Amino acid sequence: MDADQVRRYLEFYQDLGVKTLYRRPPQAAAAQPSASPPASIPQTTMPSPIPELPPLAPAGDTMPRILEDLGDCRRCRLCEGRNKIVFGVGSDQSPLVFVGEGPGADEDAQGIPFVGRAGQLLTQMIENTARKEGISLLRDDVYICNVVKCRPPGNRTPEPDEMQICGEFLYRQLSVIHPKAICALGGTAARALTGHKEGVTKLRGRWLQWRDIPVMVTYHPSYLLRPYNESAKREAWEDLKKVLHFVYD
Ligand code: URA
Repeated sequence: MDADQVRRYLEFYQDLGVKTLYRRPPQAAAAQPSASPPASIPQTTMPSPIPELPPLAPAGDTMPRILEDLGDCRRCRLCEGRNKIVFGVGSDQSPLVFVGEGPGADEDAQGIPFVGRAGQLLTQMIENTARKEGISLLRDDVYICNVVKCRPPGNRTPEPDEMQICGEFLYRQLSVIHPKAICALGGTAARALTGHKEGVTKLRGRWLQWRDIPVMVTYHPSYLLRPYNESAKREAWEDLKKVLHFVYD
């Protein structure tokens, strides 16, 4: 790791609330993990700040167990204003997971991610892009979840401590599914998963990594719903095509 990678690695953990670091005694060079990604991972254009990490999930973890551990969660302030916990939806065998930021009003009312206007656009984007690219894929075939599972008041961006607390459950979900790729929708999901600090316009369209899983960052569908965003829409279709071909070809 060069100095810049070490800095981003440390900042990533600082954002997650980790305050203490332990240094391992030096080991023989042969025992060191390879810094280069496995062959199945598409070439990343930016180095991952997370080269080697311990397991995030208990051995034999399952979705029902995560749901049970989450319970009627009151671990952070977001529980105060929520109606329903939005856990995630879709196939837990899916090779593709979409991760958004946090539930909005419609999702909070129904307990299902991406069911409002942005969600309808996401569904269209997935299904229409797949059809045009000759891939047989419906929304129900992928897994969809968020960085936080309760609606932030007024749809504000989740705070770092909220993301850290909820992240434990997101990371367990991702570990159980172990998809072939993750699509991060928007800057918050991109930062939470990859530790990269740059804005979404810098990160989109590139392969980054969450642990050993390739992550494609693209624009959040709510951003694409705003007028005068034609070029962003085009870029988002390109990003989605890349991820669908990587996963389903
Ligand atoms: N925006 C998100 O980030 N997630 C949802 O579930 C809905 C809207």
